[in-house]
Amino acid sequence: MNDIQTGRCLCGAVTFRTTGRLRGVLYCHCSQCRRQTGHFYAATNVGDDRLDIDGADAITWYAASDDARRGFCRTCGSALFWKRNGSDVTSVMAGAFDSPSGLIGHSHIFVADKGDYYEIDDGLPVFPASTP
Ligand SMILES: [Zn+2]
Ligand SMILES: [Zn+2]
Repeated sequence: MNDIQTGRCLCGAVTFRTTGRLRGVLYCHCSQCRRQTGHFYAATNVGDDRLDIDGADAITWYAASDDARRGFCRTCGSALFWKRNGSDVTSVMAGAFDSPSGLIGHSHIFVADKGDYYEIDDGLPVFPASTP
């Protein structure tokens, strides 16, 4: 298995590279994630020591809450990153990765908050709030 993965925003101003194994993809259905991404959030995460970002000055970090911030490309608007304050791990949006990403689904979180216009029926674990 190739353990280097690459990805980028839609316009290419921000590119990134991860090394090592990536966590299964969490699908977050909370209203903040739905509003920011346009549907629901799908992301893996990686330690900051295994994440290289090029074009970091093109990223706007928006603090949607007191706990965390969301990084998106200020030119094309692509949602790219989520980071808890003080954490040394960064969540990276699954849709930003180049194919084949090697990513697999892990579970759905905050399903109590999910949108009313879709169903979750992929058989992955579902949690009303965060993972236990
Ligand atoms: Zn961009
Ligand atoms: Zn969320």
